[in-house]
Amino acid sequence: MARIDAIVLGAGVVGTSTALQLARRGLSVALVDRRAPGEETSYGNAGIIEGNTVFPPAFPAHFDSVLRVALKRAPEANYHLTYLPRVAPWLWKFRAASRPDRLIETARAMRPLYAHAQPEHEALMAEAGAERYLRRDGWLKVYRSHRAFLDTCRELELAIEFDIPYKILDAASVGTLEPALAPVFEHAVFWTSATSITNPLAVTRAFAARFVALGGLFVAGDARSLADAGGFWQIETDEGPLDADQVVVALGPWASDVLAPLGIRLPLGIKRGYHRHYRATGNAGMTRPVVDTDIGYCVAPMEQGLRLTTGVEFAARDAPPTPVQFDRLIPYAKDLFPLGEPIETEPWMGSRPCFPDSRPVIGPAPGWPGLWLAFGHAHWGLTLGPATGRLIAEMLTGATPFCDPKPYAAERFH
Ligand SMILES: Cc1cc2nc3c(=O)[nH]c(=O)nc-3n(C[C@H](O)[C@H](O)[C@H](O)COP(=O)(O)OP(=O)(O)OC[C@H]3O[C@@H](n4cnc5c(N)ncnc54)[C@H](O)[C@@H]3O)c2cc1C
Repeated sequence: MARIDAIVLGAGVVGTSTALQLARRGLSVALVDRRAPGEETSYGNAGIIEGNTVFPPAFPAHFDSVLRVALKRAPEANYHLTYLPRVAPWLWKFRAASRPDRLIETARAMRPLYAHAQPEHEALMAEAGAERYLRRDGWLKVYRSHRAFLDTCRELELAIEFDIPYKILDAASVGTLEPALAPVFEHAVFWTSATSITNPLAVTRAFAARFVALGGLFVAGDARSLADAGGFWQIETDEGPLDADQVVVALGPWASDVLAPLGIRLPLGIKRGYHRHYRATGNAGMTRPVVDTDIGYCVAPMEQGLRLTTGVEFAARDAPPTPVQFDRLIPYAKDLFPLGEPIETEPWMGSRPCFPDSRPVIGPAPGWPGLWLAFGHAHWGLTLGPATGRLIAEMLTGATPFCDPKPYAAERFH
């Protein structure tokens, strides 16, 4: 096969968006995955395009919250005891990055990407004919305790500085937006300009179909066969070897499987998460995603049903699922919303690829000409996929990037 311009490894929302952004610029591109597009982490998220993100989820600030997690009573987090020694250095760095001054630094570093999240998504959705999955109804965070609401004050101040619109609501006003929600909370923040999607898998599939329509090649293959062929890159695929001048690693939680053999070691951690779809009881319905902040879960209306997504689980990526958080949070979820029976017999599990500073790595791999990195999008891979794709495409083609890529460079860890 003739040498092409670029290979993108990984057809999650990040890789597929990147392949599409490259193909739109006229490059010959192959998108390689061992599965069909969008079937891993990008399948199971809550569907929120969180351009309003200010602070990332942080290490718990209150001792009683840490204790609840340690005693495995917290609905928002779980862990495997045997995994703690492995994850301890990552957690230590995550805790350091959760200091108030560091959170503000992260918010400022990430703002340009989040500010572009929605327009870039909408541009790709329009081009891919996927607009029918887009909901422009914002999203709601409800706060059961006054303390949890007070914890969000600094974030709300920064949102004003960043020009992100929101409304603070009481339970009665939320009732007019989402009549099925019971007033079991004291406060709510309505992020009015955020959008969400009703089927994340369908959106990634639509991006992939548009990529192919532009002449892109989607091919099955194992990314671990990537080899530096001296001046170009080579990979084995089901359709034979493929050569390219440039390679983008967009393998999400599997990125280290390809990078570690090349000697590239970055502190990529995993926060596992689960979802399960439920029916609503009676005629109850929900218009937009709702996060029950104190308890740490989200209910998002999807084409498949009400998708209940959990908080985080610290466990090895490939360890068997342990969806114990559902038992802890379901009583709260049923208090908040008339949740009916689960639709599937077993919950779905995915692994959020996370760096301790809650920023992705987007840019060239230091010391490896032609190798590009685009992963580690943690809780915001759906949100940031199209903007990441644009940034990589601009850097790779030598165009002026729409924002300064330095805060996302791999070099920050060295
Ligand atoms: C419960 C939950 C809720 C979430 N909610 C949201 C949300 O509301 N909004 C938001 O923005 N984000 C959310 N996220 C985060 C978001 O889903 C992820 O950040 C995002 O999906 C990561 O995308 P990705 O393309 O990097 O990885 P993936 O989607 O995992 O894609 C990686 C691809 O690499 C492929 N691959 C792996 N190894 C190989 C190999 N050896 N050879 C070939 N291919 C390989 C896989 O098959 C996969 O297709 C949530 C995550 C979870 C778990």
